[in-house]
Amino acid sequence: MYRSLLVLICLFTLTACAPENQTAEAKNARFEVMKTDAQWRKDLSPEAFRVLRQHGTERAFTSLLNHQKAEGIYYCAACNHRLFSSHHKYDSGTGWPSFYKPIATHAVGTQPDNTLFTTRTEVHCARCGGHLGHVFEDGPKPTGLRYCMNGAALKFVKEPAPR
Ligand SMILES: [Zn+2]
Repeated sequence: MYRSLLVLICLFTLTACAPENQTAEAKNARFEVMKTDAQWRKDLSPEAFRVLRQHGTERAFTSLLNHQKAEGIYYCAACNHRLFSSHHKYDSGTGWPSFYKPIATHAVGTQPDNTLFTTRTEVHCARCGGHLGHVFEDGPKPTGLRYCMNGAALKFVKEPAPR
């Protein structure tokens, strides 16, 4: 009993400190693939750099990937990390490539985004930290999620994809 109380106190202390720790962690986030801005600028197209490295948003209905219906895998345009399967893509009508889940649980990372006078959930590549888009809770079954992605942040390759 005493022991579980102690665990509870420890948990509470950890939770109480969490927001501060998270901020520090986000600032010093270390990803498997890390480059300087100058290097990214060299390696990416101007539009991909603006989206992936500067949290930009491409204009709606401009990505050719909106109409991509073939079987394949969507990779991170910056680091080639596997992000989404064509089997989880759907037409959300928003003008951005949309998926109801990532290809694997840890393929992407998320964090709160408080810009635009609202709280949205930002989605980034788990390998390089590149900004991909946002996730909303108005997606189709079975997850009810809508991963609203910038086509400029993705690279599509026709190949057998997991269901
Ligand atoms: Zn990446």
